[in-house]
Amino acid sequence: MADTETSGAPLTLTTNIPPIVARLRATFDGGRTKPISWRRAQLRALRRMLTEERPTWERVLKDDLGKPSLEAHTTEIGFVINEIDHAVKHLAAWLRPQRVSVPLGLAPARARRVREPLGTVLVISPWNYPVNLSLTPLVGAIAAGNTVLIKPSELSPATSGALAKLVPRFLDTEAVAVVEGGVAESTTLLEQRFDHILYTGNAAVGRIVMAAAVKHLTPVTLELGGKSPAVVESDVDLATTARRLVWGKFTNAGQTCVAPDYVLAVGGAAERLQRELAAAITEMFGSDPELSPDYGRIINERHFDRLSALLGSGEVVAGGRTNREALYIAPTVLGGVDPDSPVMAQEIFGPILPVIPVPDLDAAIRFVNERDKPLALYAFTDSEVTKRRLITETSSGAVGFGLPIAHPIVPGLPFGGVGESGSGAYHAEASIDTFSHVKPVLDKSLALDTMRVAYAPITRFKDRLLRRMT
Ligand code: NAD
Repeated sequence: MADTETSGAPLTLTTNIPPIVARLRATFDGGRTKPISWRRAQLRALRRMLTEERPTWERVLKDDLGKPSLEAHTTEIGFVINEIDHAVKHLAAWLRPQRVSVPLGLAPARARRVREPLGTVLVISPWNYPVNLSLTPLVGAIAAGNTVLIKPSELSPATSGALAKLVPRFLDTEAVAVVEGGVAESTTLLEQRFDHILYTGNAAVGRIVMAAAVKHLTPVTLELGGKSPAVVESDVDLATTARRLVWGKFTNAGQTCVAPDYVLAVGGAAERLQRELAAAITEMFGSDPELSPDYGRIINERHFDRLSALLGSGEVVAGGRTNREALYIAPTVLGGVDPDSPVMAQEIFGPILPVIPVPDLDAAIRFVNERDKPLALYAFTDSEVTKRRLITETSSGAVGFGLPIAHPIVPGLPFGGVGESGSGAYHAEASIDTFSHVKPVLDKSLALDTMRVAYAPITRFKDRLLRRMT
């Protein structure tokens, strides 16, 4: 179990985990992570880790996922750098206590909301964006003043190894630690007491994390997945819609939590859209996408086999080719898909895009509402009425009109799911909320005892006054 090796680096022994957590907790208790100067210095060091070691990050992402260099930049390295820059810029404002007014009965007094760090935070991350999903939570947890333990996914071992090697080289080792490993290490970690757990991954393990957290009453943020629909109306520009869908779906070979999982083609859009999707795939990845330097690979054989079995769920309109040795599955569009077929029974999480015709918007809304709440809902429509109806009549982690997978890069928007797609949120200021306790502070001077009116004995005058004031 724990003492096997990945990427040349020994994994963390499970017996070493309790002392690591104890060290992080002692650091937090000593107060070192609280000053804003420490937080800023750590964030800047994290930025250096990403920029100075850029070739390392690009290499490990290539090793684990065949990630093209630009994609490694836009969706992982650059993404985290932007998150850091935004946090450094806004941190002082985010941490400034917020004054709130006090009711008349308590005046004169002052009240404010003060954000305090929670303590020691556990981040468990998955393999699909292994840099982003380990380090974006780290940015928020450090910015909020916590100590942090990161457990990267064992399924992206090259990135996990790089995190284990480089994090201690750049960051304060007493405050930030990386534990490598899989189920055994996660299980041992979840037995320890943390002050917050942020887990990203599938919902089955999400349930395990939440159940383990009960023991210590640890709050949990669950960043899960699900089947994110894309509703396409027939009167929109289908060529542009197809290009945006192909871009969003086939980034990282479809292994993106917010990727459009399937298309609901409204009112006769299906056939024309399918043709446009096929054309957009050829335009972006050529006639043989296996040769494209801009197209990634499937993480491992298990997922390759799972995805290959889903190719039979409909008529292959584009793609469909596979190469197990290269872990390659072509960007694929399936037409004529039955809503009860296997490809619709699970989150696809790969480069297969089923198109399902629905007669009208009502049917599309019903289709979405009959299923688990997705992490995102996308729609391609020119109608403000349709947009309003989709926002108010469906529930999802987020909504994107005209563009899939892009909302996570808007710093002002919290990122998270709802229902089966997760609970809680992070990114930018939402991370500060997640990794802090908002402590209400009431401050009333002893100089003038205006509270006498509330003290017993309660006279008729006091009774009348207090009833009127409260
Ligand atoms: P994974 O297999 O890497 O697992 C995620 C983490 O859980 C890993 O660190 C793993 O070691 C740990 N883990 C596995 N089994 C465990 C157990 N029994 N107990 C404790 N920890 C355990 O990744 P995955 O689950 O295949 O990730 C893909 C899923 O994650 C998809 O559903 C996807 O939609 C979702 N996802 C969500 C987001 C988001 O931000 N909401 C982002 C990426 C992926």
